[in-house]
Amino acid sequence: MSSPNAPEKGREKDAAPGSNFIRQIVEEDLRQGKNQGKVHTRFPPEPNGYMHIGHAKSVCLNFGLAEDYKGVYNLRFDDTNPTRESVEFVESMQQDIRWLGFDWEDRLYFASDYFEQLYEMAVELIKRGLAYVDSLSAAEMREYRGTLTEPGRNSPDRDRSVEENLDLFARMRAGEFPDGAYVLRAKIDMASPNINMRDPVMYRIMHVHHHRVGDTWKIYPSYDWTHGQSDAIEKITHSLCTVEFEDHRPLYNWFVEQIGFEHKPRQIEFAPLGLNYTVLSKRRLRELVETGRVSGWDDPRMPTISGMRRRGYTPAAIRNFCERIGVAKANSTVDMGMLEHAVREDLNKVAQRRMAVLDPLKVVITNYPEGQVEELEAVNNPEDENAGSRTVPFSRELYIERNDFMEDAPKKYFRLAPGREVRFKFAYYITCNEVVKDADGNVVELRCTYDPATRGGWSEDGRRVKGTIHWVSAQHAERGTVLLYDRLFTEPIPGRGGRDFKEDLNPESVVVNDAALLEPSLTQAAPGELFQFERIGYFCADKDTNAAKPLFNRTVTLRDTWAKTGGKH
Ligand code: ATP
Ligand code: MG
Repeated sequence: MSSPNAPEKGREKDAAPGSNFIRQIVEEDLRQGKNQGKVHTRFPPEPNGYMHIGHAKSVCLNFGLAEDYKGVYNLRFDDTNPTRESVEFVESMQQDIRWLGFDWEDRLYFASDYFEQLYEMAVELIKRGLAYVDSLSAAEMREYRGTLTEPGRNSPDRDRSVEENLDLFARMRAGEFPDGAYVLRAKIDMASPNINMRDPVMYRIMHVHHHRVGDTWKIYPSYDWTHGQSDAIEKITHSLCTVEFEDHRPLYNWFVEQIGFEHKPRQIEFAPLGLNYTVLSKRRLRELVETGRVSGWDDPRMPTISGMRRRGYTPAAIRNFCERIGVAKANSTVDMGMLEHAVREDLNKVAQRRMAVLDPLKVVITNYPEGQVEELEAVNNPEDENAGSRTVPFSRELYIERNDFMEDAPKKYFRLAPGREVRFKFAYYITCNEVVKDADGNVVELRCTYDPATRGGWSEDGRRVKGTIHWVSAQHAERGTVLLYDRLFTEPIPGRGGRDFKEDLNPESVVVNDAALLEPSLTQAAPGELFQFERIGYFCADKDTNAAKPLFNRTVTLRDTWAKTGGKH
């Protein structure tokens, strides 16, 4: 391990293991006795899609921080924009967060619960001359806003009287005006170097049905207006958000200050997770779903939590990954290989081993008695002695993986070849004597002999073989379907250079193999059950698997095959 003082790659400088700049801020606040020594965080998703791995980072950070400092955390839906929000998303997000292992107990909130309170606060600001109703169109507002180098100009409505503002705002709420006719703006400073402070919009007229409040509201509060107030109402101590909100912090503080909250939450920004070979944005993920490029939000190729769950990723793997990537201020992209590594690491510990042959080649053991079947003991997981063992049937006709045989094998080839002996895992030493071909010259069968003195796969005379291969018994194996998933995109940064990100979709992101031959017990796999198919990879029983039609998703290969082809580590 590196010394605690050595800067870790990709992390904020001098971060000791497990520490980060946010924890340092929290610890300093605790030392100074701020917030009566409490830590209270929240995760504030907008229910406009399914959660992705970037949101998992935010959940682990927000909730993990509260757990570590014996604080509490809220789940709050930021449901202020009803056009793309729905109950389906609210429910899936809760399911995903629970699955990740977090429990917000009774602290489930919705920004829409505060709509009345927010409205009253806005009226207060109007009365104090700190907000006004503006009739500029969206295009005019953009023009009046100015640029990074030029100050904005005051709207002609900026000096509307308090009475008139109150009247118009009440009528906006009552639904008297069409969408876009007016907005309510905070009156701050049109010349501020920070564009967010140039009289930001607090309310828009939207005649839209809301999944919780129905048709009660005809105006909806903006993110900026809602977020800080919600944090202050809930007495959040540390409000963590991604760096694009850094420039919004002065506005966040301005609102909380003007409303006069005694409790002032502290906004702290961190870099969002970027992951290569995928896209992390609900908008883009929605596009993939809506254009049918994937089967749904829980397609096992999606970087959503529901997709990863179906693919066979475990909560522990995702949490370990989130811990390992750390927290910093500077944007960076994490290699997909790191996530896959965390998945392999956990599955290696928890997944039971089974044998399955994906591309079968027949083997006949000519000196094995016809009709005889032996049940051989097979270890379920060499990494976990509590996992025990099972038996697998062995008989005269077997199948092995086609690529475990080579007719003209080089010296260093340790699998099956004419005249060579290998170990059939858990079974016997087996020698290949004869290769049977069809009329086209394709190898269709191998005729072999076994050494009865090597039962279990070990020779008593100390004779060694270099190769071990897996197999299934022809008469006992069950046919099944395996979906061989790969990365969703072929490019590390899909859509780079302005092309449509969908052009970079990997045409081979799923390969369907319905001729796999499975060890019999695999027909009994429960949906979601995880396995290592010996020498092939990790697989997860799909939600649609059943005894008549076993169906498995490849979670991840045994080794990182992308490292050679482009993924860097
Ligand atoms: P998206 O662009 O995917 O819709 P978002 O920021 O609009 O993301 P929200 O539902 O508003 O989605 O996000 C909820 C919380 O998750 C916010 O605090 C946000 O900062 C955080 N978050 C979103 N994306 C990431 C990411 N890639 N890495 C870390 N945190 C993220
Ligand atoms: Mg958002």
